[in-house]
Amino acid sequence: MIPAAFEYLAPTSVEEALAALAEHGDEAKIIAGGQSLLPVLRMRLNAPEWVIDLGRIESLRGVRDGGDHLVIGAMTTHHDVGNDPLVHEHALVVSKAITHLADAQVRHRGTFGGALSHADPAGDLGAPALALDATFVVQGPGGTRQVPATDFFVDLFETAISEDEILVEVHVPKHTGWGASYEKFVRISHQWSIVAAAATVRTEGGTIAEARIGLTNMGSTPLRARAVEEALVGRPVTEEAVAEASALATEGTSPPSDLNGDADYRRHLAQVLTRRAVLAAAG
Ligand SMILES: Cc1cc2nc3c(=O)[nH]c(=O)nc-3n(C[C@H](O)[C@H](O)[C@H](O)COP(=O)(O)OP(=O)(O)OC[C@H]3O[C@@H](n4cnc5c(N)ncnc54)[C@H](O)[C@@H]3O)c2cc1C
Repeated sequence: MIPAAFEYLAPTSVEEALAALAEHGDEAKIIAGGQSLLPVLRMRLNAPEWVIDLGRIESLRGVRDGGDHLVIGAMTTHHDVGNDPLVHEHALVVSKAITHLADAQVRHRGTFGGALSHADPAGDLGAPALALDATFVVQGPGGTRQVPATDFFVDLFETAISEDEILVEVHVPKHTGWGASYEKFVRISHQWSIVAAAATVRTEGGTIAEARIGLTNMGSTPLRARAVEEALVGRPVTEEAVAEASALATEGTSPPSDLNGDADYRRHLAQVLTRRAVLAAAG
């Protein structure tokens, strides 16, 4: 299908983009890589009068070292984030998740900030961002504010970004030396997760010292499996100990039921995938 007609703006600075948002209000829509928005426009599920393209704002691209954290520009493509050596060294679970995200074409167009702003609970970046305690930097008419990952994801396709704001960058605390794994269950390769588990783990001499786990598609937002994290600390890296802790992965979840699987099936998957992810992450 062909989208409804719209006016197209391509600002070259965040300030220009914010001015356009302020001028056109809820008649405007931001476009980043277009990999989620374009299908929505083509199906006419949304028909904005103005589309504001962030693609020419160079300051929103790239990964840099911010000291104790990495700074990932919102318009950095999945391909560039996934292949960045800093991300690989300090936030390995993000690199791992991106290898499972869609196909090469989508990874070359879709952006880190676009996917997180879209807030699809089946998307592959929310769980790693949550597991790593990322901070989201959003900019609006009054300046920038920082939103912790726990407050960023509000509900299904809903984030803490207001209508007059733009996500500009994501700060990811360094987890240098932590092992990581992203275990994703799909029926068709490179599709959205039925369920997935993101795990990043620090071990000391065969014992789990710290663990962070995020779950994909186990509720209306990505979720942290805190009960599993707590149960893992101080436990040996054995199948038995990790399986026992991973049985707690369903705590606090409310998975959907759909054609891909009912809620009980997803609960089972969450336990299995968490166990696999933790064991792989712990080496
Ligand atoms: C065939 C296909 C398969 C896919 N498979 C997967 C998959 O397996 N896993 C997965 O996680 N994703 C998958 N995706 C989605 C992909 O990750 C998209 O890149 C992502 O969801 C949206 O990123 P985008 O940059 O294309 O954003 P866009 O589509 O341009 O925008 C998405 C939404 O976010 C808003 N937005 C974008 N950037 C900002 C910003 N900086 N500030 C505020 N709002 C913003 C837009 O207004 C829009 O509402 C798939 C997409 C396709 C087409």
